[in-house]
Amino acid sequence: MNARSIHFRLAVWHSVLLTAVFALLGGLLYERVKTYLDDTLLETQARRARQIAETLLANEPRTGEAYVVREIRELYAPELGDRFIRVTRPDGSVLYVSGPPNDQSFEPSKVPPARAGRGEEFSRLEVLGDGNALLIAASRAEAGPKGTYLVEVGTSAGPVERLAHHLLALLALGIPLVIAVAVAGSYFLSRTALDPVAQMTLKAEIISQHNLSERLPVVRSGDELERLSIALNHMIARLADAFSNSKRFVADASHELRTPLTVIRGELENLAGDQRIPAELRDRIGSTLEEVERLGNIVQKLFALSRLDAGEAQAEWVRVDIAALAGATAEQMALLAEDRKIKMTREIPAPVHVMGDRARLKQVIVNLLDNAIKYTPPGGSAHMKVAAQGAQAVIEVTDSGAGIPPEAVPLVFERFYRVDRDRSAGTDGAGLGLSIVKSISVAHGGRVEVESTLGSGSQFRVILPLAEA
Ligand code: ADP
Repeated sequence: MNARSIHFRLAVWHSVLLTAVFALLGGLLYERVKTYLDDTLLETQARRARQIAETLLANEPRTGEAYVVREIRELYAPELGDRFIRVTRPDGSVLYVSGPPNDQSFEPSKVPPARAGRGEEFSRLEVLGDGNALLIAASRAEAGPKGTYLVEVGTSAGPVERLAHHLLALLALGIPLVIAVAVAGSYFLSRTALDPVAQMTLKAEIISQHNLSERLPVVRSGDELERLSIALNHMIARLADAFSNSKRFVADASHELRTPLTVIRGELENLAGDQRIPAELRDRIGSTLEEVERLGNIVQKLFALSRLDAGEAQAEWVRVDIAALAGATAEQMALLAEDRKIKMTREIPAPVHVMGDRARLKQVIVNLLDNAIKYTPPGGSAHMKVAAQGAQAVIEVTDSGAGIPPEAVPLVFERFYRVDRDRSAGTDGAGLGLSIVKSISVAHGGRVEVESTLGSGSQFRVILPLAEA
């Protein structure tokens, strides 16, 4: 479980809040119920005490004590109702005390006398030696010249206590349970609420420059999430626009530059061959011509890349034996390797068929071999291997050359990236060769990989899907 996640923090807040609210409500409920039960019980006892005082004892001078005792026994039957009744004479002696109750919850004769000097009516909670408590209401009765009788009516506080304990236990068990259910609910609810965000993330991760026409799923929730998904989609649309504008610009620019460059090259070639021009000037024209050719090369490659970006590789889609193509290309480049004193070998055991554009696939092999020859010092070696592996065609070009520093490895396929200008000086590249290899590989549903050790050589692998048999 991630403690920083929204779900987790929400669940923690929820549980803290719920615990506080429920604890407050539970405490209040317990307190109110307990007070209500105590008050009601006491009120019942007080009413009886008042009744006995007003109806029986007030008339005692007329009816006599024996009548009072008999009436109490008959009308109130305290033992049966588990009640305590005691009548104390003005002199403090006991006129009547009820017998042990049915449930034996207390012993009436052991209830201590009420402390004197209180008002007309009063009550108390008498805790007995055995832990039982009696809730007692007392009422005074004026009985003529004799003085004041005291009537006490009580009942065990046990049942109310037990009820209160039950309620407490119920709250103590029920509240954590309710909180646990609510918190788990809020955790899962927040997870489901954030599901669309997870889906948007998944989609966002697969959108790249190659599929900028795709959009994130829009959450129809009418809230911030919906606005976020729409805003992100607008942003992707703007990016797609900007991207296609810049691609179109490169395509248009390289296209427009090709014709004037061809004209300039032609003119310079004529001038370089014109014997009327002094030799020194012709030399300078010659080196300008080299630069113009280099420029023409770059423009040519940029144009090729822009066409690949536009997805035009499918134009000439045929079944190609890449093994034969690689062999023939290596053959053509053998002279170049020889010039540079590089031993070129190849291992092409069997035909390997892929679907694609022949000219572009050839370009891949040319660029890889050209680099192997360019970046390997004289005396080194370059080796090419083409074979089918599973459902893939693998073209491997390995050299014993300069190698590529680890920090540059992820960058060599980027446009115009060259490892270091010193080592590339004198070569006619512009950092576009490998980006063309990558674009062509991707356009053919494949990829290109590189492994290299600085100082001891590199291996480039182009992996393409095999054509169906
Ligand atoms: P360039 O036109 O400069 O050769 P590439 O895109 O073909 O551009 O290559 C990019 C960079 O990768 C080059 O500048 C070069 O330093 C490095 N590189 C490419 N192939 C090799 C190789 N076989 N051995 C060493 N370095 C290489």
